[in-house]
Amino acid sequence: MADLFQTIVDTQAAPDQVDHLAKHIVAWLAEKGVVKPNPSEEGGYDRGPNAAEISVLQTPPRGHERIPPVHKHLQVLIGRMTHADNLSEFREPAASCPSCDKPLEDVDGAWQAATQEWIGGDDDAALRCPECGKESPVTAWRYDRHYGYGNLAFRFWNWPPLKLTFLDDIRRELGHSIVVVEGIL
Ligand SMILES: [Zn+2]
Repeated sequence: MADLFQTIVDTQAAPDQVDHLAKHIVAWLAEKGVVKPNPSEEGGYDRGPNAAEISVLQTPPRGHERIPPVHKHLQVLIGRMTHADNLSEFREPAASCPSCDKPLEDVDGAWQAATQEWIGGDDDAALRCPECGKESPVTAWRYDRHYGYGNLAFRFWNWPPLKLTFLDDIRRELGHSIVVVEGIL
C-alpha cells in the first residue's frame, strides 16, 4: 500500500519564527486531541483520539480488510525546503505563469535554476515566462497542489482529505498563507 500525504506549507514564515510556530501548532493540535503532545521515538507526532476531526469523513470500502499504513503520524518539517508531491522520484512540477496562466515549457532548465537560487537563500529568485515575458518569483508560479516552498511545513501521513475549515484554522493560527501539497511516497 502506497503511503499518501498532505503537506501544509507555511509560505511566509521567517527562519526566526519557525521554531515558535511549530511548537504553537503542535500544542494547538494536541489540545484538540488531533495528535499526541510529545513526539514518538521515530520523531513524529502520533495520532490522538480526535485525529479524524480535521478530515472530511470517509467510509472505508466494504468487504476489505484495511491494511494499516506504515506512516500515519504528523511530521513537522523545519527549515528552508521545497515540498514535492512525489518523494520517490524527482520530477519537475507542472508550473503555470501567474501573469498569463500559460503552462511553463521549461526547455533550458530555468525552473530548476531558479529553484536552486531560492534554496540558496534568494527569496525573490525569479523565473521569466517564455510566453508573456514577465518575470515572477519562482515561488509565485502556480503549482496546483503539486509543489511548495517554505521554511515550515506539516506533513499529515495517510490522513483522509483535510477539511477546508481546518485549513482555514491553521492559516489563522500561523498568521500566514499556506499551500497544500498532496502526494505519495
Ligand atoms: Zn506568462
